[in-house]
Amino acid sequence: SMASPALLMRVVASAYSVAEKAATIVRNVMSAGDLGIVEKAGPNDLQTKADRLVQMSICASLARKFPKVTIIGEEELPTDDVTEDLIEDGHCEEILKKPCPAQYTGIKEEELVIWVDPLDGTKEYTEGLLDHVTVLIGIAYGGKAIAGVINQPYYNYEAGANAVLGRTIWGVLGMGAFGFQLTEVPAGKHIVVTTRSHSNALVNECITALNPDAVIRVGGAGNKIIQLIEGKASAYVFASPGCKKWDTCAPEAILHAVGGKITDIRGNSFQYNKEVKHMNSAGVLATLRNYDYYASRIPNSVKESLVP
Ligand code: AMP
Ligand code: MG
Ligand code: MG
Repeated sequence: SMASPALLMRVVASAYSVAEKAATIVRNVMSAGDLGIVEKAGPNDLQTKADRLVQMSICASLARKFPKVTIIGEEELPTDDVTEDLIEDGHCEEILKKPCPAQYTGIKEEELVIWVDPLDGTKEYTEGLLDHVTVLIGIAYGGKAIAGVINQPYYNYEAGANAVLGRTIWGVLGMGAFGFQLTEVPAGKHIVVTTRSHSNALVNECITALNPDAVIRVGGAGNKIIQLIEGKASAYVFASPGCKKWDTCAPEAILHAVGGKITDIRGNSFQYNKEVKHMNSAGVLATLRNYDYYASRIPNSVKESLVP
């Protein structure tokens, strides 16, 4: 008989279904029309009803199934009295059938940390740039991002009324990533993707120094990693604090699962143990290929302006 699936695969399979439920909530809040926008740190740091409901849905659903796992979500909300309609207890059967990479088969619940961004790209969500939005569930072990789920609730939304809306991308280190077609930017083309709503002088100075053929400005860390793995952009460059561990954990796992690389602007890898500082103070540099090309062109003055 089959041994029961490894914990990691059960967590990823559940996170997949939990992220699909989250996407439904994100779409429902938008169609209901009352976003309930709250400013957190300021006008460029927003929270909507969707951020709140999805935070509660994901954290409560995963905590119920995996009570000893540490779950860290962006929004500070209680998860003990979450209503039943927000709970998802399903899982993706296809993921459960895949073998767990050998190095992860012995992982115990108390060794996992799940980083949750219930809605990445909130600013763009409030402005109707719906395909920028993603739901991010990143899974870390030993301080490393080892698995992740990215749901894009409005994937295909410009394709017309008959198009199937939304998709779920997932990946595990040592296994690969699924739910999209891996594509590279044509060789020799340098396309930088960066923030749309959190630019500043240093962000722009860094991009100018890279002298790219084109710059794409879109919202969301999840969305920008999708741009890398689908051949739309060759580097995600963000020379600023502002991005947090829940923004990078799931994207990092998926990018690394397909051979890409993400670090801060100074080249330091991110840590995802539960004690770590949330802020990625030294920014983000990520590529699918040719990481060294970009890393070697970041000016020292930019690196020195960002303290990890
Ligand atoms: P962006 O590329 O601007 O969409 O940022 C990626 C992620 O980092 C999003 O979750 C943003 O909310 C967050 N972020 C980046 N810069 C800031 C900032 N200055 N203040 C608040 N959040 C930020
Ligand atoms: Mg975010
Ligand atoms: Mg968010």
